[in-house]
Amino acid sequence: MEAVTRLDELRGKRAKLPDPVGFVPTMGALHAGHASLIELARAQCRSLVVSVFVNPLQFGPNEDFSAYPRNDDEDRRLLERLGVDLLYLPDASEMYPRQLDVFVEPTGLAQYFEGEKRPGHFRGVATVVLKLFNMVQPQRAYFGEKDAQQLAVIRRMVADLDIPIEIVACPTQRDAEGLALSSRNAYLTAQERRNAPRLYEALRLLASQLEAGIRDVAALVKTAEQLLPPLREDYLGVVRPDEFRPLWTAPPSAELLVVGAAYAGRTRLIDNVKVQTPSKQEVQKT
Ligand code: AMP
Repeated sequence: MEAVTRLDELRGKRAKLPDPVGFVPTMGALHAGHASLIELARAQCRSLVVSVFVNPLQFGPNEDFSAYPRNDDEDRRLLERLGVDLLYLPDASEMYPRQLDVFVEPTGLAQYFEGEKRPGHFRGVATVVLKLFNMVQPQRAYFGEKDAQQLAVIRRMVADLDIPIEIVACPTQRDAEGLALSSRNAYLTAQERRNAPRLYEALRLLASQLEAGIRDVAALVKTAEQLLPPLREDYLGVVRPDEFRPLWTAPPSAELLVVGAAYAGRTRLIDNVKVQTPSKQEVQKT
């Protein structure tokens, strides 16, 4: 594996890689969730580029940018083992040599949930991902379903801006208790870690009731949120995966996502679960 920190070096090495090139953007502190994206990319592409960049533009002023876990040596060893060809590790001055004047601004998709709770977050994500796409010029890029609203924003950016890159979605990796793997889990105390799977339990309860044909989302959220304490709810909701607007009545025969965010102590967890709602006829039969 070659590792580069400068854009001119990246462009030089990238030009020599055989196509198709797969690309996995990350913020480092890598875990088995990241590894699953990299393994899929390795299996599908002749060349594989990974970036590690903690993007200041996507953190709010009161968020954890300076505390965000960094684990460069271990990350490198893992990436080497996974057969990555080229690792791009820019620092902030390489990524943002001057103050940006032009940004990518998702609008409708960033209105609710993560977008509402973290103003400016998706603008930071979409802008850095487009910059990375232009730097790496991959044929395919891999994103986790764990960050489902981010995935929707990236897919929409690629469609709206005619970016010639295939976006590949990868399933959420969890620990044995169901907690979605996340770099931020490193912040959890032992007690918080025991409580953290409650978010997934609440989402699954909501999903199972939607699958049983119950359509009143507000009532379902009320029941599910009782499972959360001592986690503190940030939001729970039901959306179409390509729209991310809160639904108050679940439509029949629809593929939906149950989405949620909650705090374990000061650590913010997010997660989601897919659900297929039954048709009207299926509900009448039961
Ligand atoms: P991050 O380093 O948190 O920015 O994540 C980099 C990529 O890994 C994103 O596309 C995430 O959605 C994905 N990812 C993070 N955690 C998981 C997980 N538990 N399962 C699958 N993908 C994940």
